[in-house]
Amino acid sequence: MSIIKVMDQRLANKIAAGEVVEKCVSVVKELVENSIDAGAKKIKIELIESGIREIKVTDDGVGMNSEDAKLAFLPHATSKLITDDDLFNITSLGFRGEALPSIASISEITLKTSTGSVGTIIHLKGGNMESVEAGDARIGTTVTVNNLFFNTPARLKHLGSLYSELANITDYINKIALSYTDISFTLINDNKVILKTDGSDNQLKVINEIYGIDVAKKMIEIKASNDDYEISGYISKPEITKSNRNHLITLVNGRVVRNIELNRVINDAYHTYKPEDKYPIVVINIGVDPTLIDVNIHPTKMDIKFSKFDALKELLKNEIKFKLNSINLIPNVKLKEDKYVSYQELSLDLSRTDNINTIDTASIVEDSTEVYHNDINLILEEHNETAKIEDKIPEMYPVGLVKGTYIVCQNELGMYLIDQHAAKERINYEYYLKSLGNPKSDAITMLIPITIEFPYNEFLIVKQNLDILKRMYFDVEELGTNTLIFRSHPIWLPEGYEEDAIRKICDILVLKEKYFDVEKFNESIAITISCKLAIKANENISHSEMETLIDDLRLCQNPYTCPHGRPTIIFYSNYDLEKLFKRSM
Ligand code: ZN
Ligand code: ZN
Repeated sequence: MSIIKVMDQRLANKIAAGEVVEKCVSVVKELVENSIDAGAKKIKIELIESGIREIKVTDDGVGMNSEDAKLAFLPHATSKLITDDDLFNITSLGFRGEALPSIASISEITLKTSTGSVGTIIHLKGGNMESVEAGDARIGTTVTVNNLFFNTPARLKHLGSLYSELANITDYINKIALSYTDISFTLINDNKVILKTDGSDNQLKVINEIYGIDVAKKMIEIKASNDDYEISGYISKPEITKSNRNHLITLVNGRVVRNIELNRVINDAYHTYKPEDKYPIVVINIGVDPTLIDVNIHPTKMDIKFSKFDALKELLKNEIKFKLNSINLIPNVKLKEDKYVSYQELSLDLSRTDNINTIDTASIVEDSTEVYHNDINLILEEHNETAKIEDKIPEMYPVGLVKGTYIVCQNELGMYLIDQHAAKERINYEYYLKSLGNPKSDAITMLIPITIEFPYNEFLIVKQNLDILKRMYFDVEELGTNTLIFRSHPIWLPEGYEEDAIRKICDILVLKEKYFDVEKFNESIAITISCKLAIKANENISHSEMETLIDDLRLCQNPYTCPHGRPTIIFYSNYDLEKLFKRSM
């Protein structure tokens, strides 16, 4: 009996046929999702010329009988009745069969399928069924799509370069492999293996296959829950960053979603741990009762709204901050053993760039699975035993100063370099942020009051906001045209820099006028003043000043980065030093 039923018309209309197939990745997506729906545990995607010449997807799913196989190419055939709301409640991906007729109409297709008895092979060209033959009995389905858009040259032109088509496919397969960790995915382009996951239901292993061992090693496990949400997954140490947000991967009940608000929460949780224009790698699973989410689904993108979103945001932010705050984040400097160019990373970073037409395929790494096999098992073991809170900055002893900039330190583990400006900046930053957050009423009266003259427009803004300055315990008032007089200032304002600091504060006030937010205002003041007052590079400090600096750094909440997200301290282990000098091979 046929398992294909006619699809809900309303949804069918929604899935506008023209939007279903735009790029090679649309075809790959359709075929892979059909395979998942068919219960496959192994899915192999083989491409020729990034899929433009050929896309072949082979699975070990349940397969189709000859009747279903023929029906699969009729419009609006689907294996189940579905409505929008079902999509997050059911395990299937829901679009089975829907795009196949569209794909068939613009390509040449060979479908080989079998449910275990006799097999079926169907050939189609431009949507016309050219032949139906008996095939072998291997259970599962293979769909081969050749010469996409052969009969619609105008659309062929809309395809991206070989590189961008492949990047999009890689990006999609990476995400689907992270979602379905119990399915083994193999992605091959022009006989090169790009991704191979083992289907062992371990997300960190998939991360390892996508990003390589160096990244997998630096992933921190997260796990937390509240009444409505459960979160788990991996976040990168701040030293691992990417130049775009494409690596902030969130899954809701096992499906990848893109939510700008969630990305913002994740990014904010890393605030000052990394530069503002860099982003971490995260894979976060969110488990939630489907009734608490509202999904707006569209063939090419997915938007999601959460009830009790604030509770989810709190949970996520607190867990990330807690984890960043509880482990040693000093970057360990390592020699690159070989020039490992990860094709994966290139693809991911450039998947939004359509103009790159060539790629140096010679430098692409072959299947790296074997080499790193043992390493990943070690990491998996380590992950199981990391519950302890580590010392942030271990005991260490300054040895000297290089170029008046880097403090060289040592302990039994190896050598550390501290950037004295960045370190001092972090210490100052935390101090000023704290002072600004708890203003004290004891102000310092200046012997000579400071008068500042402003351009007229700025004067108006500052004048309107004098109460903000007064709440910070500045004694300030108007003094004639465009001028303010400051008679006293809060005690934390650094001696000798009073006027500079006051000017900076007024600048920030003018800048922030429109969207004034105390926290952000304090934050900008703290960053600006802490940089200004930090010891500069090329300034020699004494041995005891170095010791004080290290002690103060140790007391910081985040001693690892300056407020701009640059590292304050890096580490060379004894082992790595020995390796650098070839003392140990
Ligand atoms: Zn600075
Ligand atoms: Zn800085």
